[in-house]
Formats: sequence, C-alpha cells, structure tokens
Amino acid sequence: MSCLICGEPALAIDADDDYLERTCPKCGRYQITGAALVLMKAHGWYFNVELTHKWIEEHQGTGTIPTIDSHQAPRLVDV
Ligand SMILES: [Zn+2]
Repeated sequence: MSCLICGEPALAIDADDDYLERTCPKCGRYQITGAALVLMKAHGWYFNVELTHKWIEEHQGTGTIPTIDSHQAPRLVDV
C-alpha cells in the first residue's frame, strides 16, 4: 500500500470502511476517513505534503491517532 499523502510505500491498516490508517516513514501514523477520501476524489484534490506533515506533527502525542476528516481535508490540500 502507498501513503495517501506522499505516495511512499506505507504500512496499511484498513480497520473498516469508515477510515483508512497508514503508517508512513515520512508522514508518521495517521487516519483518513472514507468521507474525506470521497470528497478529495470528487474535487480532484491532493494533499499538500508539507502542510499535512505539519498538521500530523501537531496532532501526534495527544493519545489519539491524527485523523483527517472531511472538515480537515480541505485545509490540507493544494488548491
Ligand atoms: Zn507519507
């Protein structure tokens, strides 16, 4: 599986249909909701790697895995 943010090979843990989880050597561990992926696909959006890395870093270590949902996704893309 490849990383949904940077495209590098990443460890995939697809727990269920509601979200995807990846552990990427560059991006770290994160989750993306199915709704966010559908939204991004519908708009043809791609993650801004730098912006997304920063966001994941800020949300790591809080006890929960950083999760990009459909509210967060539009803030992390190249428009
Ligand atoms: Zn990555």
